[in-house]
Amino acid sequence: EEMSDEVRSFLDTGIYRLVRDGSKVVFLDPVRILNHSYSRFWVSPSAYYSRSFETTTAALKTDAVEDSRILKKRKRTRAPRDLNESERAAEKRHQEARTFLLNAHKVFLEAAELQALLPELVKSEVSLPTRRASEQKFIQLGSLWQAPLYEISLCFRNKNLSDDTGGYRLGDHGGTIIVHQLYNNLICNETNEDVEAEFQSNHYILPSRSCFHMTTEFRIKSDLRQVRNLVPGNLHKSNQTLSFAHSKDGFNFIVIDPPWENGSACQKAMYPTLPNRNFLYLPVKELAHEEGALVALWTTNREKLRIFVENELFPAWGVTKFVLSYWLKVKPDGSLIGELDLFHHRPYECLLLGYINLQNDDSRAMPFEYLGINQVIVSIPGDYSRKPPLGQLLKDHIPGPKPAKCIELFARELGAGWTSWGNEPLHFQDSKYFVER
Ligand code: SAM
Repeated sequence: EEMSDEVRSFLDTGIYRLVRDGSKVVFLDPVRILNHSYSRFWVSPSAYYSRSFETTTAALKTDAVEDSRILKKRKRTRAPRDLNESERAAEKRHQEARTFLLNAHKVFLEAAELQALLPELVKSEVSLPTRRASEQKFIQLGSLWQAPLYEISLCFRNKNLSDDTGGYRLGDHGGTIIVHQLYNNLICNETNEDVEAEFQSNHYILPSRSCFHMTTEFRIKSDLRQVRNLVPGNLHKSNQTLSFAHSKDGFNFIVIDPPWENGSACQKAMYPTLPNRNFLYLPVKELAHEEGALVALWTTNREKLRIFVENELFPAWGVTKFVLSYWLKVKPDGSLIGELDLFHHRPYECLLLGYINLQNDDSRAMPFEYLGINQVIVSIPGDYSRKPPLGQLLKDHIPGPKPAKCIELFARELGAGWTSWGNEPLHFQDSKYFVER
């Protein structure tokens, strides 16, 4: 059968753009996008999409828990006239989003070629490797007194690596093994290929030119200042007195998915959350490149949070000119993962995109396409409310020199050329999420 250019390009990039009647809708396959970060591995579709992958019992269980939660919520949902003031405001926002989202979903469903591909995306690899059940609990380990003593071994295949940061020894296959302190340390794979790392008999895949900083303490607000270790000029100087103002080396793209408090017990068990005000201490402005940075902030649908972001957080970070995008979550059959009108359980999330340090008369900055309109990102969600990757999708909207320098705060995964900061940035790098090429 003839393949259209759009399909061919989608199969390569994982990005399918649908532009109809002035609305901007884009479908993403995170697996295909993430694959561009790796040279020796593929991201395993069945591990990524395990929520939608019927044969894993774990996924079924998660769904059962979620379903019963939705049912309980549904019983508790009150009639609109009982809503309090902020709930009414949130409802108003939702109504505005609603038309926009329904139209986007319609456009998505009408793309017949794309619909035909969906079920294939979540299919298992030919032979599914046996998966270890145990997953490393980085957050818990980081809270132990031993945390500073934990070490991770990076296994480079190349023998001739010069090493100035950690101890090293020769590996079994003639490569070099470099040992780093795991927590509160900036660890980089500066080579141009994937590197395997080992920690307590689990293996992790580190993409080319990726860096991560796994932080330990997270109980008090001042701990967020740890991010300052990543402020340009402070790199490689962790645990020392820090200085600022080196923004020539700053980041052009800053993705932030904070651990917002949101009353959901399920979320609480998964990772610690922080009160909104703590995020005012994130040195986002300092992380930005002097020729400008695009900031992508994931938020929830809660009205109080949206007001806080617009009135306090963005001004504190120096973020201006922002637009609102939506992430619409669908199943492999194209339908929404839940009812659009379920009050506390929307099938969409909000993404605020804004700029820092952008000068109107900027002749120094490299040309980029200013992001001026709302768009809808459609994708099949992965596990643990994992967000779809944004770097490729937004690359034309990132100011400053190319290739853009990108950082993700509160990250649970790494990317080629990215810096990841959080208390579990290796979470999705576990080798169980990958298959060898
Ligand atoms: N964007 C991620 C993804 O798509 O997989 C999800 C990020 S999740 C909303 C927030 C993350 O922040 C969790 O991994 C949580 O453990 C981490 N976190 C919570 N408190 C933290 C703190 N004080 N310092 C660093 N990370 C923290």
